Amino acid sequence: MRASTLTDVGEITVEERDRPDPADDEVLVQVGACSVCMTDYHMYHGTFAAETPLVLGHEGAGTVAEVGSDVDSFSVGDRVAINPTVPCNACSYCKKGETHLCENNTSIGGAGDTILDGAFAEYVRVPAINVEDIGEMSFERAALAEPLACCVHGVEQADIKPGDSVGIIGAGPIGLLLLQAFRNAGAAPIVVSELDDERRELAADLGADAVVDPNEEDPETAIPEAAGGPVDVGAEAIGLVPTIKQANAVTAPGGLTLIFGVPDQEATMEISPFDVFFDEVDYRGSFSLTTEDFERAVTMLQHDRIDAERLITERIGLDDLPTAFERMGNAEGLKKVVIPGDGE
Ligand SMILES: [Zn+2]
Ligand SMILES: [Zn+2]
Repeated sequence: MRASTLTDVGEITVEERDRPDPADDEVLVQVGACSVCMTDYHMYHGTFAAETPLVLGHEGAGTVAEVGSDVDSFSVGDRVAINPTVPCNACSYCKKGETHLCENNTSIGGAGDTILDGAFAEYVRVPAINVEDIGEMSFERAALAEPLACCVHGVEQADIKPGDSVGIIGAGPIGLLLLQAFRNAGAAPIVVSELDDERRELAADLGADAVVDPNEEDPETAIPEAAGGPVDVGAEAIGLVPTIKQANAVTAPGGLTLIFGVPDQEATMEISPFDVFFDEVDYRGSFSLTTEDFERAVTMLQHDRIDAERLITERIGLDDLPTAFERMGNAEGLKKVVIPGDGE
């Protein structure tokens, strides 16, 4: 089979590999689509550590091509989405359902302490507990189950009630999914701040009640103005300290600031403990997804609660990853989806 393999920092080689055999509790998935994520970008550039050689790709969907001898919940031909977070199901976090905090953190193609080969390949091995039936949904739509599940997790971490106001800083692919997830949960109004004209317009189309252009106005005043006051949840979907500060500055007393974008591991910021104390504004993280979030995300995609198609701007082959990363670095286009069967 062909596999797009990270061989070193900044180096990807499409190589011919043996088709893997699934273990007894695994299925072999023929990858129909796997979308590209900023995590892949960081692993490619070495800003997330990854031992090479490694096949990246943690947002995959496809068809079950083989099943291990102990698997009876799936059969050959089933269409599935792949949840990349493999729970050990033995640690106390897994037992509480907090599978994303698993002590034996293992990911299929994504960031983790242990990283297994991912889905930028024609085939990928996946534990049967990590695939979810998708019915007739297209593979590229199903590929968005993983990033959407991260957003479902974010909404849960934000602990909102219907009618709570939300400010979102950053409308890249993940910010635009987060917007839709918040909207589905009843958040209102939702104000989105985004530098790029096209992304800002798309945010308005996808349900933002107001959008803010930081080139034109200061989000710290414009967001509360548009929302009718400081927001219950200030969500940062970029991962930069200045924008996390912005999200916090627009958060109402009693509300919370959601750190949703992936910050640099070395980044630090100053906080005023008095403000945290006096305004009761919490900082809350949202990392990855649980098995439950993934199932919820698949259900939402199946029932058309999410506009996925407008987020997918490029369909590429296994050879095109370096170009895709370059475009991501320049914030060009939105979601890129690898179709491994293409470009042979
Ligand atoms: Zn991702
Ligand atoms: Zn565990």
